[in-house]
Amino acid sequence: MSILLIYPPLTRAPEPPAGIAKLASVLKQNNVSASLWDANIEGQYYLLNQPNSHQDRWTVQAVRNRKENIKMISHFSGYKTIDHYNRIVRDLNRLLVKSPYASQGSQLSLTQHLHRTYSPLKSDDLLFFAKHPHRDPFFPFWQPKIINYLSEENPDWIGFSLFFLGQAFTTFAMLGWLKTNAPEIKVAVGGGLATSWQKSRYWTQPFDDLVDLWVSESGETPLLHAMGYPSNVCTRVPDYAQLFENTYFSPGRIVPYSTTMGCYWNRCRFCPEQAENNTFATLPGSQAIREIKSLEKYEPVLLHFLDNAIPPSFLKQWVFSGNQIPWYGYVRFDDLLADPDFVHSLAESGCVMLLLGLESGDQQVLDQMNKGIDLTVVSKSLDNLHKVGISTFVYLLFGTPQEDFDSARKTREFVVKHAACIDFLNLAIFNCPVNSSYARDLPSNLFYEGDLSMYVEFNHPLGWNRPQIRAFLDKEFKRQPHIARMIRNTPQIFTSNHAAFFTRGFKNHDK
Ligand code: SF4
Repeated sequence: MSILLIYPPLTRAPEPPAGIAKLASVLKQNNVSASLWDANIEGQYYLLNQPNSHQDRWTVQAVRNRKENIKMISHFSGYKTIDHYNRIVRDLNRLLVKSPYASQGSQLSLTQHLHRTYSPLKSDDLLFFAKHPHRDPFFPFWQPKIINYLSEENPDWIGFSLFFLGQAFTTFAMLGWLKTNAPEIKVAVGGGLATSWQKSRYWTQPFDDLVDLWVSESGETPLLHAMGYPSNVCTRVPDYAQLFENTYFSPGRIVPYSTTMGCYWNRCRFCPEQAENNTFATLPGSQAIREIKSLEKYEPVLLHFLDNAIPPSFLKQWVFSGNQIPWYGYVRFDDLLADPDFVHSLAESGCVMLLLGLESGDQQVLDQMNKGIDLTVVSKSLDNLHKVGISTFVYLLFGTPQEDFDSARKTREFVVKHAACIDFLNLAIFNCPVNSSYARDLPSNLFYEGDLSMYVEFNHPLGWNRPQIRAFLDKEFKRQPHIARMIRNTPQIFTSNHAAFFTRGFKNHDK
């Protein structure tokens, strides 16, 4: 049996996709011949390099600097200062925004593929792309390549890894094309977005004519069973060899790796992970460390832990693993970070940045949404991390049902009070997950964006709705000088994917 695993455009491409790399590794150990195709990075290079006749000043400049910028985004010289870096990514982004292939309403960027008329949250719109694959702006790129793959490799199966909304149009264009041109090939679809759709209470399986197997969460076992293999226990170390034939948009190789599936905390009421009740599984720490060591053959400049939250039990082992590679990932604010000795060992283990979900600076709001963090622990943790030179990328969430204007102001005060210890900031406005307890408890409208929407529209019980939140963020929050500095420091477009390259820890390590 053979399978071609495709990661379709379009989403950010700073590193290879871990999902298909892990799946390929398991399939190969079970004697399935698996090929990987990162159509996302390849498709973006294809479009970036097309002639562009737009005459506005910005596009002309972006075309003029194209060759140099493509080189710089994959080289440390492009990351010397944040202003220089931002100019490079904005100019590259411009080439996709103004791509001649983005005609007929497609809206492309380095992060997404949307459409002025069609929505990736409406099954009818995705079926339209399946019926009219040539309407996909990536069609001229992928059609000849897929024909080539089919004639050279003759796969029995094709698997699509659908993680982000920006990948939906091209995925369905490819699915439709395959149905017409190679109906004998079996097709599987999995990945984060595919899992969320299937876990929605409102999933009606609208694509069954196009897809033979929908995979939810981890894909190995159902795929092996569908192919007629018993699933064997084996290691799940991602196989990046084929994917690293591509040059990703980063100054060296970032190797992604996950020690867990799901989230060990899994209690935050605002979180889709919790709402979907995803399975939690973790590897024994010693095994994860062995697997990470085996990834050193790819010569990473940075390790990216993909865990929703790296478990403290793993961190306690990891800090003594002798790791030499700079790394970053999501960690929850807990007692471990409030311990200065532990944080010191964290820095010694190569940690250059932590992604930290603070969400709110109001303890009452945190408690009511089951965030499970204590602001006194947060204060100590931020201070400890700052002292040892680990940068912090702090995530805030406005507009949760318990928050009001006064609580949002407390968040602002908390952030300002800790300004010296916060390097990068991500601001988000709450979306209510379709399966969450909030969606059940609050008056809400279904399908406000489409039948595949993962969120519901709700009326904020305290009248703290989007227009008020936006006004607060724009007029009050972002204008605060310390906060404005954190926002300016945060890399545009690739945000946390590239922030580690601007940290003190990474620069010191690099010397
Ligand atoms: S810790 Fe993060 S991933 Fe886990 S439930 Fe809370 S928000 Fe979700």
